[in-house]
Amino acid sequence: MGNASIQPLKTVVPDPHESGDDPIALARRLQVPIWIFDIDNSSIAYANAPACHLWQAETEEELTSRVMASDMSATVAKRLKQYQADFIESDATFNEMWTLYPNGEPKSVMVVYSGFVLPDGRMAMQCEVLGGTEDEPENLRSAEALLHTDVMITLFSKKGPTLYLNPAARNALVMPMKSFSDIFAFPADYADLMIELSVTGEHRLVAEILTVSGKRWFDLSAKSCLDAATGEPAILVTAIDVSELKVARDKARYLADRDQLTGCYNRAYLQNHLSVLSLRDIADDAAIIFFDVDRFKTINDRHGHEAGDTVLTQIAARARAVLREEDVVSRLGGDEFVILLENLKHPDAIDAEVARIKDAITQPIFHDVTRIEVSVSMGVAVFNPGTTDFAEVMRQADIALYTSKQSGRDCWTLFNEAMGDAAQERAVIEDELITALENQEFILHYQPRRNLKTGQVVSVEGLVRWQHPQKGLIPPNTFIPICEETGMIEELGRLVLEMGVAQAIAWQDSGRDIDVSLNVSPRQFNDDQLLTTLLDLSQTPGFPSGKVELEITESVLIGDHEEIAEKLKTITKMGYRVAIDDFGTGYSNLSYISRFPLNCLKIDQSFVKQLPESGPIISLILTLTRQFGATAVAEGVETEEQLEWLTAHDCEQVQGYLFSPPVSIDEFDDVMDRLRNDGFQPQA
Ligand code: C2E
Ligand code: CA
Ligand code: CA
Repeated sequence: MGNASIQPLKTVVPDPHESGDDPIALARRLQVPIWIFDIDNSSIAYANAPACHLWQAETEEELTSRVMASDMSATVAKRLKQYQADFIESDATFNEMWTLYPNGEPKSVMVVYSGFVLPDGRMAMQCEVLGGTEDEPENLRSAEALLHTDVMITLFSKKGPTLYLNPAARNALVMPMKSFSDIFAFPADYADLMIELSVTGEHRLVAEILTVSGKRWFDLSAKSCLDAATGEPAILVTAIDVSELKVARDKARYLADRDQLTGCYNRAYLQNHLSVLSLRDIADDAAIIFFDVDRFKTINDRHGHEAGDTVLTQIAARARAVLREEDVVSRLGGDEFVILLENLKHPDAIDAEVARIKDAITQPIFHDVTRIEVSVSMGVAVFNPGTTDFAEVMRQADIALYTSKQSGRDCWTLFNEAMGDAAQERAVIEDELITALENQEFILHYQPRRNLKTGQVVSVEGLVRWQHPQKGLIPPNTFIPICEETGMIEELGRLVLEMGVAQAIAWQDSGRDIDVSLNVSPRQFNDDQLLTTLLDLSQTPGFPSGKVELEITESVLIGDHEEIAEKLKTITKMGYRVAIDDFGTGYSNLSYISRFPLNCLKIDQSFVKQLPESGPIISLILTLTRQFGATAVAEGVETEEQLEWLTAHDCEQVQGYLFSPPVSIDEFDDVMDRLRNDGFQPQA
């Protein structure tokens, strides 16, 4: 056993009189228990007689042959490894209260340990027991700390019963307590914790605990250990009350995720939720329903903003009420909402589901005593498990919503690929329109309007066309609606007015006496810029006052009549005439129409097309027009029969393919020449 490299013990110096073969020869003669613990092998290498006695071993041989690893918890084993490292690095000494389990029986002793180099050079641990442990200052202090801390420190037997509760725990927990599981508000938390403990020996979680002041949130830390008194498997649990912290944090999170008005989730939450969803594997189909309230602006205008808020709040509450807990209802802003249905068990039944939701949210809403009828337009996109591109799904739902609006609102549409193509095409046009406006790729074509009494062309309607550099001439129906929706109409409308007025000035300068009629879209009419533009134009040198007519639609006349009448008066004062286009197709209030300064009613083509059946309606419009001293124009006149009927009923002016389609300015003189010599017989 002798070895030249043996280091002297720090506390136990080898006695030169004893055999040099035994490194703890001196210790063998001491009365305190001393032993050398071989950390690597979890066994005792040497022990003196008092140590053998403490460990309840008959002989030193018996003790050194014991395998200690079996009783040792993972935590203890780890700690010992750390001590070993500390001994190697620095000449450390530690004092600790240890509970030993000689033959399974617990025995608490105060141990001093330090490094000890074994004959083979490995670092072991010398353990020396100190007497009089009870009065050690460390013990006194730790006992005091345990008594006064607010942290709950508890020891439960693994079998269930409570072994120890410090005062904080005794005060907080509901007594009598039979077992550890009793403290949990949710049995699932207990189950989780026990599973984790059995796997890793320790676990930490925030859980709701039943206390004398009700359920409270605690940060729990649990460790498997052995009961120092009996050696039985036990669980040491420390717990700190984090209720205030948790409530504050939850509230902050709740507020950050919610829309203030409706309490629905907000856009940020939805986006985040969708991205989390894309990381997770979705087992079942899911659907996104995009919807908005039809004519929400009108509700606000008619009933006030508070009523508008009530509508939004009610809709949100109803949507949540008919959906499952896990479905997400979120408000993107304004009157736009998104519903996310996860785990659709029956994707085929999506129709029924959407119908059910729509029905629930569109019941009449009461704001105070006002009953408000609401309808919504919805777009639905269903997606499969494995979808990751939620921006695309949202886009699909948006396209479907757009389609619903196109088909008259108050309905819902399920997205399909063809819809996607149409939307794609539209997006391309939208893009190109921006450039087209910059490059002024627009021109006016002119269609003559003929006076039936004199046969003369008294007026022309300017109709816009888009001269697309690649696609050629594009008719207005392709791009005017897009311009209306996107707001580009305001710019395009100004361009049209500028071109039309310039042409009117040019004709006047060349001595041609002809009026020019120009279309003003509803959005353009409601734009504040319109009056400025019109004023500017009316002040250009040579502006032919009374010869430029603006065609507005009936829809423009719905709303605040006083305000509209004022606006129209201002426009007429600037020297413009005002015509109602497509008359008879809208819902303008006939009793009000006479209060507006109107110069002309253009009878919609559809009535002319249906002649003679539509005769009575046209007669009615003609009478009305005469009554307030305006000019009646029949549009879309294509046949001699239609012309005859209109002539017979004293319609003043006509416009239509029978005389000429709209033509470019280059062709215009030829058309005028032809019409002068076409043998048209003015009425006597
Ligand atoms: P609108 O104002 O009712 O214009 C009359 C439309 O009927 C023109 O179509 C014209 O070419 C067409 N039309 C004329 N006579 C006949 C006929 O005998 N039979 C038939 N079937 N059609 C006839 P266009 O030029 O394609 O314009 C379509 C619509 O686009 C216009 O309807 C108007 O609402 C809008 N639009 C055209 N130019 C402008 C513009 O500069 N600004 C605005 N805001 N809208 C415009
Ligand atoms: Ca028109
Ligand atoms: Ca028209």
